[in-house]
Amino acid sequence: MDSDLPTPVILTELEKGVIEEIKEHGGENIDRCIQCGKCAGSCPVALAGFLWFNKRFIHALTLGIKEEILDIPSPWACVSCNKCTEICPRDVKPFEVVFALRRVLVEELAMPTLTMEGLRTLYEYGHAVYQTTYPETRKKVGLPEKPPTTLAYPEALEELRALLRETKLGEIGLIPME
Ligand code: SF4
Ligand code: SF4
Repeated sequence: MDSDLPTPVILTELEKGVIEEIKEHGGENIDRCIQCGKCAGSCPVALAGFLWFNKRFIHALTLGIKEEILDIPSPWACVSCNKCTEICPRDVKPFEVVFALRRVLVEELAMPTLTMEGLRTLYEYGHAVYQTTYPETRKKVGLPEKPPTTLAYPEALEELRALLRETKLGEIGLIPME
């Protein structure tokens, strides 16, 4: 959970073009936001007690604040439920803004260690969360060692890896992709 709010910033010194950067990365409607708060009221990230969530990120980015929020982990806590997009009266698509922010963070290499580990595991196994003890545990309860996913279908894993190599992750070499 976010521990502290970022240090105060001087608005006149803020980086220009942050809104444009977010738009270019998928948050095209960010400047339609009227800060009504409906997206925050429906967001599991906000309900879980994170200090930073969709509405606040949109506000900060609209003001041109970016560097000051690079280290905040909660963009990675978004669970892609899309409730915010359904409820927004201005078609801002807050989920898309949060994901645009994630894409910017990837380019800035500003990702939490757990996210990096999840990506590495996703590339290796096809699951963002995977423990090598799973097969043994599954056997004990009478299940096949491998679930019917990329673990059981190597060709599907290869397809996933090929897709990941085509993404920005492959381009910037954030995780080993052989
Ligand atoms: S619901 Fe839409 S308009 Fe309201 S604060 Fe969220 S993004 Fe902005
Ligand atoms: S999609 Fe993400 S930002 Fe939107 S409500 Fe769900 S968790 Fe919150």
